[in-house]
Amino acid sequence: MYHYVREYKSDHPKFRFLDIKNFRKQLDYFEEQYGFVSRKDWDLVIKKRNLDSVGGKVILTFDDSLSCHFDYVFPELKKRNLWGIFYVPTQPYINSKMLDVHKVHLLCGAFEGPLLLNALNDFLKEDMISNSKIKEFRNETYLKQSNYEGISEFKRTLNYFVNYEFRENLIDKVASNVGYEFNSKDFYLSKNKLKEMCLYGNILGAHSVTHPVMSRLQHAEQKIQIKNSFSFLEDVVSQSHKTYCHPYGGAHSFNRDTVDILGTEQVMYSFSVEPRDITNNDLELSYQCLPRFDCNEFPFGKAS
Ligand SMILES: [Zn+2]
Repeated sequence: MYHYVREYKSDHPKFRFLDIKNFRKQLDYFEEQYGFVSRKDWDLVIKKRNLDSVGGKVILTFDDSLSCHFDYVFPELKKRNLWGIFYVPTQPYINSKMLDVHKVHLLCGAFEGPLLLNALNDFLKEDMISNSKIKEFRNETYLKQSNYEGISEFKRTLNYFVNYEFRENLIDKVASNVGYEFNSKDFYLSKNKLKEMCLYGNILGAHSVTHPVMSRLQHAEQKIQIKNSFSFLEDVVSQSHKTYCHPYGGAHSFNRDTVDILGTEQVMYSFSVEPRDITNNDLELSYQCLPRFDCNEFPFGKAS
């Protein structure tokens, strides 16, 4: 699993990303150590729900439809004759707005944690927080990220605790308080770029509309998130199968309802985040939450 793959930019000195040079080194490493699964073999794995005859061990996935996936990743994949699965959240294509989760990344890349937390606490009111899952989310989120002081708390509060109805406004207030302006133009892959990537054998998958923690939503709301993100993709390209990736992706981030809806929508497989290999058992019985490694679990994969 990859997110941002790019070069250092001085206007966001603390932004977390994988340097393209390290991405190249990591691809070399995977090639030498494990080999890649070909697109043809992957289609067979999915059809047969069995890994036994597959050559290679690695498939590459890229989340959030970030423009660096076209500028940095795609040329590298083409050069090596590799392919990937690109998971697309669809709100930015509907209303041109940047997703809250990415606004938070940009703020954290540009400012110190304590400054952001202070600004947030100035605007945060008790009734904006939903309390029911605070303990669970506090114990299960951002455990593996070595963040700057205050950053984990800032992210956790906005992504997991604040009620969604207040969040966008709250983030925008924090941004204007610290003097930051979001620019969604060129942040995401354009439709034409998505189409071009598909022509080269890459797969596009759904990743919800607004990138919510799905387990915080009712069944009906989850259904809209999943259905609408697939209908957007189907308008852009026609593909052999449907695949989905859980936003955030940890076991706490989705629930039984999510898995049921994915089944009803005839999604062939979905990825979560759980650092272990996929087994035949997963493919047969729990293919709506296939495990997936973060790239930082392997050499050269640490964010700068
Ligand atoms: Zn995502």
